[in-house]
Amino acid sequence: MLEDTPKLQGLRERLIQALIRKGIRNMSVLNAMRQVPRHFFLPEMFAEESYEDHAMPIGEGQTISQPYTVAKQTELLNPSSGMKVLEIGTGSGYQCSVLCAMGLKVFSVERNVALHHQAKAVLSRLGFKPRLKCGDGTLGWDTYAPYDRILVTAGSPEIPEELIKQLAPNGILIIPVGDRSTQHMKLLSKDAEGNVSVESREAFSFVPLIGKQGWNK
Ligand code: SAM
Repeated sequence: MLEDTPKLQGLRERLIQALIRKGIRNMSVLNAMRQVPRHFFLPEMFAEESYEDHAMPIGEGQTISQPYTVAKQTELLNPSSGMKVLEIGTGSGYQCSVLCAMGLKVFSVERNVALHHQAKAVLSRLGFKPRLKCGDGTLGWDTYAPYDRILVTAGSPEIPEELIKQLAPNGILIIPVGDRSTQHMKLLSKDAEGNVSVESREAFSFVPLIGKQGWNK
């Protein structure tokens, strides 16, 4: 794995400026993305390309999300330092690192064993200490529930009931919902009494969320 060189830091800053031009305004999201070297999550030959604003393959038929998508989902999540956040779809571990860099208590679930182990190694190299689990994230992670925030990084046909249950009062759940090619980002809010409301935002294209309360394959 390459070190974080001045050249790569320069490319990362150029990416941050591109995200600002695309409308990302939350400074704690931008600063966390400034801090986390995205090239650590990809093979060495893609180090420079990792600072272009697009999704890239990470093996096992999966992708590391586009930086704009990571920034937008995290901005919608709107977490405050110290909150408990559950991420579904650890993938490369990049989004998980951004959440850790924001000072959040992060719990992340990945269904693919190889990706789970790969992400664990990179996160530990960066000194982040999220709790990671390999399993079906459509069922959440009830051991540590409830969560102040839940972020799903794969596209689902609907919002899994179990995730709504594991969301704390005054919590926010961000999840792309739609068919297998296009999804709309849904922002589900739970009020202090447990009432739920859902808003729909812009369209994205995610790999499928596969599990008991997602797609069946
Ligand atoms: N957040 C990731 C990152 O920063 O690299 C990107 C995630 S990738 C777009 C979606 C991930 O969700 C894949 O790694 C996939 O294996 C995983 N996934 C799909 N269904 C899942 C499920 N039911 N539970 C947990 N992970 C799941």
